[in-house]
Amino acid sequence: MKRLSVIVPCYNEEESIPFFYKAMEEIQDKIHYKFEYIFVNDGSSDATLKVMRELHAKDREKVRYLSFSRNFGKEAALYAGLKESTGELVTVMDVDLQDPPELLPDMIRGIIHEGYDCVGTRRADRKGEPVIRSLFAKMFYKLENKVSTTPMIDGARDYRLMSRQMVNAILEMAEYNRFSKGLFSWVGFQTKYISFDNVEREHGETSWNFFSLFKYSIEGIINFSDFPLKIATLFGMLSFVVSIILMLFFFFRTLLFGNPTSGWTSMTVIILFIGSIQLLALGVIGEYVGRIFLETKKRPIYIVKEKSE
Ligand code: UDP
Ligand code: MG
Repeated sequence: MKRLSVIVPCYNEEESIPFFYKAMEEIQDKIHYKFEYIFVNDGSSDATLKVMRELHAKDREKVRYLSFSRNFGKEAALYAGLKESTGELVTVMDVDLQDPPELLPDMIRGIIHEGYDCVGTRRADRKGEPVIRSLFAKMFYKLENKVSTTPMIDGARDYRLMSRQMVNAILEMAEYNRFSKGLFSWVGFQTKYISFDNVEREHGETSWNFFSLFKYSIEGIINFSDFPLKIATLFGMLSFVVSIILMLFFFFRTLLFGNPTSGWTSMTVIILFIGSIQLLALGVIGEYVGRIFLETKKRPIYIVKEKSE
């Protein structure tokens, strides 16, 4: 029987793992693939690793795990899991059951019978999410799709089923600053999307707050677009034109009406304005330089402390 690798990043998920495993095993009977679980413990501080060890002990072939030396983030955990996977098909899933396992048979059909390379999932709505968060998420997707050539779909989750070929393509992108939604899209291949109603987390807590999501979205834009760098050029050109116009205006006004000493206020405003634009542009460049800095150090994306054999 062919294998389907299930990659599950876990950060403080001791409560969720048993429910996830049970729900998945129910699906297992309905498909013609044998699951190969790869749980990745992303430096949890609770008993997540212990739960993984126990599952592994029950079925050594089916359940494998990796445990990081600290929290490296979900992106790193996904990469580690993809690297370990051996299945012909590979899926990445959250452990909190917000990615419904029931969709798997449909997703498999999409690849096997309809010939897609990847079947992704998207939430039909953002029910149960704070209003502000939805608003910012919408803004992010609008902006990202304007400034980047890598399209990202609003509401698309990381939950997807991929062919081995596509997984190998993703593994070739061993960059340090990882933004999976972008990477999945960047590699191309034919992707079909299945919509489903938003499911709320039942056990444990989300590890994202508004601020971390905001940072994550900046990551998404900077990693897949150089448009912010061009903003400085645009502003520069604009302010050049404005300054020429102002120069002519003040020159002729002084010639015609005299009064050379007034204008302290406008001067201050102009200096502050130009100064802040310059700082902004420097900041944007800094964001890119910082990423180059991290990228050139060539540090590993994650460090494994313990692994099932
Ligand atoms: N996760 C992880 N490392 C982290 C944060 C989260 O591996 O640093 C995992 C987490 O255990 C879960 C998935 O990523 O399986 C999604 O996390 P969460 O449910 O907190 O995110 P949300 O669904 O709220 O976006
Ligand atoms: Mg979740």
